[in-house]
Amino acid sequence: MAAIVLNGKVLSREIEAGLAIRVAALKERSRGEVPMLATILVGGDPSSATYVRMKGNACRRVGLASLPITLPETASTDDVLTAVKTLNADPRVYGILLQHPVPRQVDERLCFDTIELRKDVDGVTSLGYGRMALGEPAFNSATPGGILTMLRHYGIALEGKEAVVVGRSAILGKPMAAMLLNANATVTVCHSRTHDLELVVKRADIVIGALGKPEFIKAAWIKDGAVVVDAGYHPPGVGDIELPGVIGRCAAYTPVPGGVGPMTIATLITQTVQAAEHLGKTPV
Ligand code: NAP
Repeated sequence: MAAIVLNGKVLSREIEAGLAIRVAALKERSRGEVPMLATILVGGDPSSATYVRMKGNACRRVGLASLPITLPETASTDDVLTAVKTLNADPRVYGILLQHPVPRQVDERLCFDTIELRKDVDGVTSLGYGRMALGEPAFNSATPGGILTMLRHYGIALEGKEAVVVGRSAILGKPMAAMLLNANATVTVCHSRTHDLELVVKRADIVIGALGKPEFIKAAWIKDGAVVVDAGYHPPGVGDIELPGVIGRCAAYTPVPGGVGPMTIATLITQTVQAAEHLGKTPV
């Protein structure tokens, strides 16, 4: 049987079509006021600038306003904190995105944790992560949240499955593992000190590649019938998993590009709309 293509590009456009209707209803309710997502870009990293621009474009497609804040490469932690606090206090702003990574001298964790929970639409605060992990209401970390939405949309069974997450970052691997655990998968998290990664990956019914190294996870490590999710993207267009050699014998896979990336943005935008619908209350 042909593998299911977990097509984030198509699914994200479907999600956006539904969001545009909800944003139009919000505008009508608030007599024309347009809910806003604020983005903070610190420094000149071209990939980060592209991601922020793509997020602004997605806002426009669904009818949200976006407020792009750009800070120089030399910005201090205090500079970023001032921007976050200003946006926390701005009633027009329903969501705040601080683009990761920030330059080395900035305390990213402190800046993330200064974002008010009700505006944490990218799901980066410690409190939001803790609440999500405990199954309490909170916005999801955008990339793993998008992956979970995609797996559910395509009817991928998670309960009782062996899920292996390769990578344990605060924005991706760890929240992904917590979400899969909450969905009753049996979860193993791998990292740079994992012994015999190949052996662990070979057990997986569901593999999540989130380590940031081009085609590091080899096709030969992936068992027949597995579900293959690749969060990585490396120009000119490969992920963290060696996809050729898997496509013909896996159950489902995310294309690179067009798999996980668009779902990250769709999750961010969905959660911004939810924040506006809840009118500043704690996320539900
Ligand atoms: P990160 O912060 O650099 O974390 C990488 C993780 O991979 C770390 O936990 C690290 O382990 C682990 N790792 C590194 N080398 C390894 C190895 N040889 N074996 C096993 N694990 C290893 O990266 P990230 O921000 O989570 O991003 C991961 C990937 O996802 C990147 O390709 C990034 O571009 C992509 N990404 C995509 C999106 C999207 O929207 N599509 C969003 C975010 C990230 P240690 O903890 O031991 O160092």
